[in-house]
Amino acid sequence: MTTILLLGSGELGREVAIEAARLGVRVVAADSYDGAPAMQVTPHRRVLAMTDPAALRALVEEVRPDLIVPEVEALATDELLALEAEGFRVVPTARAARLTMDREGIRRLAAEQLGLPTSPYRFASTQDEFAAAVEQVGRPCVVKPVMSSSGKGQSVVRTDDDVARAWAYARDNARVKGQPVIVEGFVDFAYEVTLLTVRHVDGVTVCPPVGHVQVDGDYRESWQPHPMSEVALARGTQMAETIVGALGGHGLFGVELFVTADDQVLFSEVSPRPHDTGMVTMISQATSEFALHVRAILGLPVRADDVAVSRPSASAVVLGTATGVPTYAGTADALAVPTAQVRIFNKPTSHPGRRLAVALAQGDTLEQARERARTAAAAITVDVTG
Ligand code: AMP
Repeated sequence: MTTILLLGSGELGREVAIEAARLGVRVVAADSYDGAPAMQVTPHRRVLAMTDPAALRALVEEVRPDLIVPEVEALATDELLALEAEGFRVVPTARAARLTMDREGIRRLAAEQLGLPTSPYRFASTQDEFAAAVEQVGRPCVVKPVMSSSGKGQSVVRTDDDVARAWAYARDNARVKGQPVIVEGFVDFAYEVTLLTVRHVDGVTVCPPVGHVQVDGDYRESWQPHPMSEVALARGTQMAETIVGALGGHGLFGVELFVTADDQVLFSEVSPRPHDTGMVTMISQATSEFALHVRAILGLPVRADDVAVSRPSASAVVLGTATGVPTYAGTADALAVPTAQVRIFNKPTSHPGRRLAVALAQGDTLEQARERARTAAAAITVDVTG
């Protein structure tokens, strides 16, 4: 029997675990806290600090998985490189996990080695370097810790007053304290898309574009297929193929792109694993991004009909508003919306802004699908105790 060790057991890992189980795979779900979403769908769970190299090595040596499948960025990636060199298989590759762990590695690979168009950028480790970086990049600019996700520590600098505030905010909200920040030119994009791109045994398959809306750097709604001009789609597809080719290995990648009104396509970032905006594929595609990831990493085929989108589809998130143990109401109202489906992640605790569930829907048009998904998500209310 094939064993997968899932490093990260959030809502994306949970769907990967379900899809792997469906193909007869044993899944060991690991995370830094107990009761994480993916731990609820497999009897095999481990709780550890995954950024601790010794703890990560001990786990891998105990489980001896056929595949190590990262679900989060915050891992002891140098230890993954060492384990891979010893013969363990890391999805898609340990180098991809290392390079995408922080914004610097992936940005330099994309812009400086592969020549992909990106926003202008600088990195800064001190407040003086930061002030110089803001001057060089120009305003408005977007400031982010190199290690962060879901918009944590991210802000826009427009005025003089914003400069010190953005520096402090990025430094205080970084995943690892003391790490540099990236200063990026603000891109006035017409829209942003994720190209879910699968590297598999028969080649590369790019899913129809996923459009999305982000608030404070975190995803709120996504939909598929997002209309793109032929030229923008061709540019984006080529960029997606280039970046996933450079990262290597098999699996599904989320390639994030900005598209301007005149069809310039800029690379933003890439996840070497299913992407949160791709949750829409649970309803839109014949085979979801999670199932595609599992297929690809197991060396199984991915067909063109797997990624076919038959109807416009959308997802909308449900966020926590308070801290405590969450309970949910309104699921019946959400499911009264035509075509709607609900996924509650069962996270053991709620925090303000924490993603707790997602609603999915289809429609005759993208607008109708989005409206239905938003209505279903809004019907779900979260109460907390404790
Ligand atoms: P990220 O964590 O880098 O994916 O950023 C989260 C979101 O913030 C993106 O999806 C965009 O909506 C926005 N954003 C990030 N960088 C920029 C930028 N340079 N210009 C404009 N918007 C940005």
